[in-house]
Amino acid sequence: MIASATLVETVSGATTKACRFCGAGLQRTFVDLGMSPLCETYPSPADLNHGEVYYPLHVYVCEKCFLVQLEQYESAENIFSDYLYFSSYSDSWLKHCESYCDKMTKRFGLGRQSFVVEVASNDGYLLQYFGQRNVPVLGIEPAANVAKVAVEKGVPTLVQFFGTQLAKQLAAEGRDADLVLGNNVLAQVPDLNDFVEGLKILLKPQGVLTLEFPHLLRLIEHNEFDTIYHEHFSYFSLLTTVRILEAHGLKVFDVEELSTHGGSLRVYGCRAEDRTHQVEPAVRELIAEEERAGLGLAAGYETFALQVKQTKWELVNFLLTAVREGKSVAGYGAPGKSATLLHYCGIGKDLIEYTVDRSPYKQGRFLPGSHIPIYHPDRIRETKPDYVVILPWNLKDEIMEQLQFIREWGGRFVVPIPKVTID
Ligand SMILES: [Zn+2]
Repeated sequence: MIASATLVETVSGATTKACRFCGAGLQRTFVDLGMSPLCETYPSPADLNHGEVYYPLHVYVCEKCFLVQLEQYESAENIFSDYLYFSSYSDSWLKHCESYCDKMTKRFGLGRQSFVVEVASNDGYLLQYFGQRNVPVLGIEPAANVAKVAVEKGVPTLVQFFGTQLAKQLAAEGRDADLVLGNNVLAQVPDLNDFVEGLKILLKPQGVLTLEFPHLLRLIEHNEFDTIYHEHFSYFSLLTTVRILEAHGLKVFDVEELSTHGGSLRVYGCRAEDRTHQVEPAVRELIAEEERAGLGLAAGYETFALQVKQTKWELVNFLLTAVREGKSVAGYGAPGKSATLLHYCGIGKDLIEYTVDRSPYKQGRFLPGSHIPIYHPDRIRETKPDYVVILPWNLKDEIMEQLQFIREWGGRFVVPIPKVTID
């Protein structure tokens, strides 16, 4: 099911795409990554005889509110109803979640009398830590197969998409929350205004909202173009986030920079009229940094596209040289972001023979489009490749530690982003 783009009429009478937040016409390209299949759809051997649908990965920046965004090409139901991503598989991510839980419990005095709601709660990976501290929780997760795992773990979970409708229903049942959190979900929301309005409705008058999402400033600085994929409709600076929350009667009172996903923000919000929280200097300071980087002007978004092209040339050049020299190259990981990287760079099985992944759901399947096979991590020890390309480069330290044994046969690691490095 292909969702049609929202069209607006311009002054000249021509139709064009409209900004997901402010409705202004979208004309300015941020980067055009060509055509790519949906990144979280891993074909099984039986699927290989069928065609795959490719969608454009053309990213625009709104010249009015500076929201960087993709058009929505595929309905959210189709993308997320049988999602293969299980958060619980990354050790460093779990540590991150537990320390978040500790911090929130202390800072906002959460306990048995409180109520925490997570939007897009996945397999309950985060809420389980609140549960261990006896804080009542509710998860909201649209992917039924993932939500089922959460419920089995004892994390109450509603299988639904979040928006104003569900928020009103929960609030009417007295299930409004002291803490509402959304990790890596804001980017995936097709109807941004309805979602943010829903967050406000779900908050108790003095409730706190935290949102984590990849920071656009770092995406640009660190050249993280492979974090752009169809499932991520929007890319946020703090500047634009503050504007979006304000439009829905919410204020940002604090912000933290995190190292997750190549540089993320954790934004703290509350109702605009809530005087409990002073706006911390960190908010003003980070907005000033974004302005210095040019994110408050359309021209500030111009250089990214060239930087992306240069990375492609370097990576392809490295792999071609290695293959010509008779070296073997394998991948590590099958994250969503690898689809963008491999497609945009035109890399197939001829350059990376196979990849491995710890998730049993991905083993025996193939990367979308390139059809690079995905095996169990033991395959690396068995085949002793000369190079291992780390596709989830954001976890490179953890992966290099786990794979130190490739040094035994002189194996080396290749990290493609921010620039190609061989270690
Ligand atoms: Zn806009």
